[in-house]
Amino acid sequence: MSHTPDLPEEYVCTGCHAIYAGTVSNDGDTHRFEAPDECAACGSTAFVPLEQYVHEASA
Ligand SMILES: [Zn+2]
Repeated sequence: MSHTPDLPEEYVCTGCHAIYAGTVSNDGDTHRFEAPDECAACGSTAFVPLEQYVHEASA
């Protein structure tokens, strides 16, 4: 599966494992995705990218 930069990156809350689509942050003519500031479900501010989370879970 190839990486598609047009799709938002997804982040996993390390507190309750909820998945959030990253929010787009425009920085000049480039944009990138950022994790939410806070989990709406459990209030945690710790997120890991979904790819990293999957790798850690299957290790
Ligand atoms: Zn959470």
